[in-house]
Amino acid sequence: MDTTILKGKPVALKIKEQLSLKILDLKKNNIIPSLAAIIVGDNPASKLYVSSKAKAFSNLGCHSEVFELPKNTTENELKEFISNLNDNDQFHGILLQLPLPSNLNEKEILKNISPSKDVDGLHPQNQGYIMQGEPKFIPCTPLGCLKILDYYKIETKSKNVVVIGRSNLVGKPIASLMSQSFSYGNATVTLCHSKTKDLNFHTKKADILIVAVGVPYLLKSNMIKEGCHIIDVGINRIDDSTNKKGYKVVGDVDYDSMIGKAASITPVPGGVGVMTVTMLLSNTVDAAYNKLLQRK
Ligand code: NAP
Repeated sequence: MDTTILKGKPVALKIKEQLSLKILDLKKNNIIPSLAAIIVGDNPASKLYVSSKAKAFSNLGCHSEVFELPKNTTENELKEFISNLNDNDQFHGILLQLPLPSNLNEKEILKNISPSKDVDGLHPQNQGYIMQGEPKFIPCTPLGCLKILDYYKIETKSKNVVVIGRSNLVGKPIASLMSQSFSYGNATVTLCHSKTKDLNFHTKKADILIVAVGVPYLLKSNMIKEGCHIIDVGINRIDDSTNKKGYKVVGDVDYDSMIGKAASITPVPGGVGVMTVTMLLSNTVDAAYNKLLQRK
C-alpha cells in the first residue's frame, strides 16, 4: 500500500493565505493582531517554542511580544501580570507557555486569562464551549490536526477514531470535537490513556489514530489495522550520536514501520507541529476580528 505523507506545510500555507486577507482587512481598520506570550523561568524548550511562534507572527505582519518572568515569580504576581494584559487593549491574545515551574498551579493560573484573549483555548470556559459543541477558541494543536484531516480529505464521519492521550491540551478536546456532529466530526471515538487495558485491542480497530502521549515510538505497526490514517502529535527528543546536536526529534509513532501499512501518516518533524503555530496565528486573528466586530 502507498502511504501518503501528511505534511503540515501545505496546509499551513493555505491557511496563512486566507489569514493574510483577514489581516489586511484588520489593518485597514487600524488593527494589527497582537499576541502577548509569557514565559516563566528558564526552560530552553519553552524559549525556542515561543521564539518560533514570534517569528511566524512577524512573517505575516502581526505583532507579538514576549514577556520573560523569573523562575521565582509567585502565583499572585503572575495572576496580576495576566490581569494587566487582559486590560491592555494592545493585545488580542495571551499565551502562557507551559509547563510552568513546579511551584505554580497551571490550572489555577490559566483561569485568570480572559476567555476572549485565550487563544490557546485552555480556559475552562473555552473548554466547556467545546464540550457543548459551540467552540470559540479551540486549542491550537487539536485544531491543527483537524485542519490536516480536512485538507487531505480524510473522511471522519462514521469512522472509528482512537485518540491516545487525555490531556486538556490535545487528547480531550480532539476526542470531544471528533465525536460531535461537525463536518470534521461524527466519528465514533475511543479515548485511551495510561490505564487503558490492552491498548492494541483498541488501536487495531481504528480507522484514524491520533497519538498524543509523549512516549517515543509507542505505536508500532503490529498495533494498527492496514489502511488506517495516523496523526502523530508527539514531539520527543532522543539521543542520537550520529546527529551534530547529539539528539533527534521523533514522534510517538514508529514512523518507518508504518510506511506501506498505513494509508497516511504525519511526519515528525514537519507534521502537526507546523500547524500548531499556524493555528495560534489563526486564533489571534479571530480574537482581533472579534474586537473589530464589537466596534461596529
Ligand atoms: P501529557 O499532558 O503528558 O499527556 C500524555 C497523555 O498520554 C496522558 O493522558 C497519559 O495518560 C497518556 N499516556 C502516557 N503513557 C501512555 C501509555 N504508555 N499508553 C497510553 N497512554 C499513555 O502530554 P500532552 O501535553 O498531551 O502532549 C503529548 C505529546 O504531544 C508530547 O510529546 C508533546 O510534546 C506533544 N505535543 C506536541 C505538540 C505539537 O505542536 N506537535 C503540541 C502539544 C504537545 P494518563 O492521563 O493516564 O497519565
